[in-house]
Amino acid sequence: MLILKNAQQFSHEMILSVNLEDGIFIDATAGNGHDTLFLAQHIEKGSKILAFDIQEQAILQTRHLLQNNDLEEKVTCILDSHAQISNYLDEKDFVRLAIFNLGYLPKTDKSVVTRASSTLEAIQILLDRLEKKGKIIIVSYYGHDGGLDEKNSVEGLISTLPQKEWSVLKYQFINQINCPPICYVIEKK
Ligand code: SAM
Repeated sequence: MLILKNAQQFSHEMILSVNLEDGIFIDATAGNGHDTLFLAQHIEKGSKILAFDIQEQAILQTRHLLQNNDLEEKVTCILDSHAQISNYLDEKDFVRLAIFNLGYLPKTDKSVVTRASSTLEAIQILLDRLEKKGKIIIVSYYGHDGGLDEKNSVEGLISTLPQKEWSVLKYQFINQINCPPICYVIEKK
């Protein structure tokens, strides 16, 4: 039996759809570390993970979660904006998969949220550095102030990617109240 998955579960399915060996994986919004942990639990030999967040609290929490699961050696946690991703890649590096969760760190005062300008900058960098068959996964929580603008900006950019080179998917329940999250998936052909 196939039960429909929510956006977050679907994003994890997408992680499992790529080759998990010998790749560079990026969590662009580490937050409480759940996606980073999922990546670390599933990548295989030769792969590495870079996890970014601009909040020290998020980086500490992510490290803590990884340590509790004996997986810290698989991840480099980086206290910096995902707009600076290129500073942490070698010139010859290509990225197998990157995941974003747009919004605010759960259980905080919502004062720090992802913003359209840096999100778009990071997506653009990743589009240039993505491997063939690589994926960028963006889970957008957009019910907060400014969230709709960011969602629309992201959708505006990725919906114009030429279909010869890119497959772009939007996954969302359309009968749920309160801005149900959307999972976008960009795949390089
Ligand atoms: N994926 C996370 C998890 O599993 O817990 C949840 C991420 S939360 C929705 C969004 C995170 O993005 C917040 O922790 C916030 O600090 C972070 N963030 C906001 N702007 C950022 C930026 N420019 N670069 C990196 N992280 C950023």
